[in-house]
Amino acid sequence: MSTQMRAMVLQRPGSSLKLERRALPVPAQGQVRVRVTACAVCRTDLHVVDGELPDPTLPIVPGHEIVGIVDALGPGADRPLGARVGIPWLGYACGRCEYCRRGQENLCDLARFTGYHLDGGYAEYTLADARFCLSLPGTLDDEHTAPLLCAGLIGYRCLVKAGDARRLGLYGFGAAAHLIAQIARHQGRTIYAFVRPGDASAAAFARSLGVHWVGGSDEAPPEPLDAAILFAPAGELVPRALAAVRKGGRVVCGGIHMSPIPSFPYELLWGERELLSVANLTRADGEQFLKLAAQYPLDVETHPYALEDAQTALDDLRAGRYSGAAVLLPTDARSRQR
Ligand SMILES: [Zn+2]
Ligand SMILES: [Zn+2]
Repeated sequence: MSTQMRAMVLQRPGSSLKLERRALPVPAQGQVRVRVTACAVCRTDLHVVDGELPDPTLPIVPGHEIVGIVDALGPGADRPLGARVGIPWLGYACGRCEYCRRGQENLCDLARFTGYHLDGGYAEYTLADARFCLSLPGTLDDEHTAPLLCAGLIGYRCLVKAGDARRLGLYGFGAAAHLIAQIARHQGRTIYAFVRPGDASAAAFARSLGVHWVGGSDEAPPEPLDAAILFAPAGELVPRALAAVRKGGRVVCGGIHMSPIPSFPYELLWGERELLSVANLTRADGEQFLKLAAQYPLDVETHPYALEDAQTALDDLRAGRYSGAAVLLPTDARSRQR
């Protein structure tokens, strides 16, 4: 085996990712080394690269929707060699702070995130804390499993926070919404998709997934919604979504970053409407969601890119050039037999 690997590296926010050759990383105490077969591209990666999130570790290898095979173990790492694992956004939580003790490790004061504080999956190999790796269902191949690891499971945390809403609005119909719409339909909910005004291809994509109604994010739904989830990072959608939900309804903000929310009249919130955000994930979310994903036949729309085209994949995401999820294939399982 080669002692080097290729990685796409961000030197400083606002610059382009550059291909580097690096020494193969050596797993420390409790860590596994994973040969990355697929890593999906998340909007959060774009926020890291564009400098919209504070204090990333630099230089950093982005990517936190990683599927791969454990190929080396550090001392005490509890995973079998050859295991197929998923590495999500939550790379470490302390287990001791107030939040961790309450079962809210997603809010841990000392949390470290993959592809932000810890080198991620835009590389042929990466390291991970064995305790924070997820076991994966065998129902989908690596390329179609990768988007489940953030779009899917943070989307799922949003869906749970939306409560028992029967009429559910989804603002921003990208990677997360296309997975969550399918699960929500299986649960018997009625989906209202809101796309960028005039984005005919996003509207057609939403329609192809059997949503009940599709409209522009500047339109009112035909009837009041029980809840809405915002996946688009646009603050001006918050008052619009509040206006679209009934009394007692809920608006869940699913993104890690959003442009400023404009001021709005109190009556949009009044009537016991609730506005909340979802931050990160817990390992329990991951296990629950992946179990669900193994039961439902999810249709995952992916667009494969070579590792060295990671910057193109990010640019295409920013420009809205594809529907579904972009996925990098650093060591494509189909072209490289173990
Ligand atoms: Zn903690
Ligand atoms: Zn993500």
